[in-house]
Amino acid sequence: MPNLKNHMEEVVFNQMKYVLEDVKMCKCEKCQMDIAAIALNELPPKYVVTEKGVLFSKIDSLQQQFEIDVTAAIIKAAQIVRKAPWHDVAAKAGGAGAAAAGAAGPASGSGSGSAAGG
Ligand SMILES: [Zn+2]
Repeated sequence: MPNLKNHMEEVVFNQMKYVLEDVKMCKCEKCQMDIAAIALNELPPKYVVTEKGVLFSKIDSLQQQFEIDVTAAIIKAAQIVRKAPWHDVAAKAGGAGAAAAGAAGPASGSGSGSAAGG
């Protein structure tokens, strides 16, 4: 049975290791997943068909093109997460059962404006 897989996930997780080496921030599993989620929401999905781990699409040649966009998206996501680490926000909210989809803006309330600089 062939499977659909978002190849972008793998590209993001691969790139993240290298990108985050240069970023000073919490790199716990939660923060890394959060960065990946935000970055993946920014990036277009690249679905590929796999069967038993074999990729059917020619994605290797595409990967080069992704990398610049992926790196930019990861850096942007890392800045968001660094300002408001998800575990801090979750602790303040004091609740479980967060929807997995909520990657866009972890905090509601105090923050005003979106600073792009760093
Ligand atoms: Zn963390």
